[in-house]
This record gives sequence, C-alpha cells and structure tokens, in this order.
Amino acid sequence: MKSAVIGGGITGLTTALALQESGAKVEIFSRDSFEKTTSYAAGAISYPYGVEDSPRTQEWYRQNDEVLLSMMDNPDAGVFWANWTKCTYDPDLEIPEFFMRLRDARVLSEAECPQDYKKGMVARLLVMHVGRYYPFLRKKFEAGGGTFTMREIKNLKELEKDFDLIVNATGINARHFVNDEQVYPMRGQVVIIKNPGIDFHFATFEGRNYFYPRYEEILIGGSADVGEWDLTPDDALTNQILSWAATLDPRLANPEVLSVRVGLRPMRPEVRVERDEQSCAVPVIHNYGQGGAGYTIAWGCAYEVRDLALGKAGKAGRAA
Ligand SMILES: Cc1cc2nc3c(=O)[nH]c(=O)nc-3n(C[C@H](O)[C@H](O)[C@H](O)COP(=O)(O)OP(=O)(O)OC[C@H]3O[C@@H](n4cnc5c(N)ncnc54)[C@H](O)[C@@H]3O)c2cc1C
Repeated sequence: MKSAVIGGGITGLTTALALQESGAKVEIFSRDSFEKTTSYAAGAISYPYGVEDSPRTQEWYRQNDEVLLSMMDNPDAGVFWANWTKCTYDPDLEIPEFFMRLRDARVLSEAECPQDYKKGMVARLLVMHVGRYYPFLRKKFEAGGGTFTMREIKNLKELEKDFDLIVNATGINARHFVNDEQVYPMRGQVVIIKNPGIDFHFATFEGRNYFYPRYEEILIGGSADVGEWDLTPDDALTNQILSWAATLDPRLANPEVLSVRVGLRPMRPEVRVERDEQSCAVPVIHNYGQGGAGYTIAWGCAYEVRDLALGKAGKAGRAA
C-alpha cells in the first residue's frame, strides 16, 4: 500500500511510522520546516492537557507511554522520567482527581512545596526532549524507506492518483484544509535557555508557568491563549516568563536565552481520528485535534489510524 501523510509534525511522523511498521510505503508531505510547526514549540511531557478526557484518550495515552517506555534504553530517543511537581498558593485548593490518576501521584504539604506555595502534588511522568525525540523518529522513518517531502498540498484530490491512502495530519491548519470549524488555536509561547545545571520539573496551578529542564537546555513556559493565531513572539511575555523563572532559582537571574518558540495547539472538542470515504477517490484518514497532548497520545492515535487503514475498527476510538 502506498500511503501519503499530509503533515510532518509529531502526529504525521508518528502515524507514518505506524503505517510503515505495517508494511506500507509512506511519503510525508509537509508545508513547513519542523521549526515552524507547533510540535517544535512543545514542552513534550507525557500528560493529557487540553484534550478531551475520555476512555479513548486514556487508552491512547497508555499506548503512547508503552512505546516511550520501550525507547528508554536508547539515549538517542531523548525519553526520560521526571518528577513533576505542581503547586498552588491556595491552601484550600482541592487537587483535581484527574491529577491523582497520574503515575505515583501524591499530594504535597506546604512544607514540601518550594517558596510560598501552600499545597501541591507530585507525579512521575515520561518526558520527551523534542530536540532529540523528533529527529530520532525521523531518522527511523527514513531508515525504513520513508520519504519526507517539503510541499504544501492544496487539496486531498491532488494525491489521489499516486496513493492508495491519504492521512490528514495537518494540525491547526485542518481548520482551513478540510474546513473544520471545530478546530481552533490555543497559542503557546515558551523560552528556551541554557541550563546552568538545574534538574527539577515544576508547574503552577495559578497562571501558565512551567519549568522543564531538557539536558543542556531548560524550556520555560508559557501561555495558553485561546483563539489567538499570532506566531510572532511577544517580548513582554518572554520577560514575564523569565522573571517568573528567576524567582525559582538564583542561577536563573541572567539566563542565556537560546530561542523563543510559539506554537498553536490544535484544539477540538474531540480529537478527530476518522476514516472518510467521501472526500476523494481513495480513503482518507483524518488525524488531528490533539490540543495540548500531541506528544502524549501520538502513538495511540497512530495505531488507531493504522487499524482504520487496514479496515479494522479502531480499538480505542470511534468516528468523532
Ligand atoms: C507551548 C506548547 C507546549 C506544549 N506542550 C506539550 C506537552 O508537554 N505535551 C504534549 O503532549 N503536547 C504538548 N503540546 C501540544 C503539541 O505540541 C501538539 O498537540 C502537537 O504538536 C500537534 O502536532 P501536529 O503534528 O498535529 O501539528 P503540527 O506540529 O502543527 O504539524 C502540522 C503539520 O502539518 C503541515 N501542514 C499543514 N497544512 C498542510 C498542507 N496543506 N500541506 C502540507 N503540509 C501541511 C505543517 O507544515 C506541519 O508539518 C504543546 C504545544 C505548545 C504550543
């Protein structure tokens, strides 16, 4: 089977690998270089943020973690464990049950929280370093005979003569590409600084701030602006993010900023993983709308696409 995957972000690349594993010859088409995708800006912790909480997303999350665990022995994959701490200034905040479902989750007392935080929780999460994980997967895809082509596809019919199957993994652009008005952006901005030797993962319940060391770098966030499409970094926000980080550790007072990244989380009331026989002469499988959890559920969605491509009902999903 010759398959085309439209989209070279984490969703498209992972799906391409899953199809390749099942014996398909796969070509990825990407309009943008990786540095211009949402996937490039991600914090990439394995945690289902900004996505429906449903049995199928929970199953996709479980499948994804299983694949990540299988990669942990290979340092090139950039997958590792982190103790993820999330704190609040509100001593009366009831930690939502959802957080307590995370691996080894437990509530933190005031004494265990940093600074003036009053309460918190800690859980063990798998984490991907985007700068290693994405190139690792891409290398695997190309070593397996896959082709990555930089080209914008204007419509699905453009590919129907040359392929037996088309996957639509266009992320936020699905709103325009297949006129899906249920897709909308949640803009996120992060600052990457050189790591002076810090090794704790921290996030706040109030505001949007988080702090994720990645070997030689630290990714600091962030923002979550619904309906905002602007990809230009906001300097005031960068300063706010850096000022917040400086309160966490004195070594962050004069950080070496490596880059500022902006991405548009592809939000949708439900992730769309659906086989479509109507749009062109060959089957299309849509795979987009992963919100703030593209790295967390990519493998689960990819296996669902593979099953739908093989004509099986997806194990976890249903047409959204
Ligand atoms: C600040 C931030 C932090 C995040 N943190 C996390 C996190 O900790 N954990 C997590 O799981 N997720 C996180 N996310 C969410 C995650 O990044 C997204 O869910 C994921 O990147 C979406 O991937 P995608 O491949 O669907 O879309 P994208 O990465 O946007 O890729 C879309 C691809 O489609 C291509 N494309 C679009 N239209 C066309 C066309 N017509 N022709 C050809 N190509 C086309 C684009 O060029 C691109 O290659 C975060 C996001 C942001 C912004």
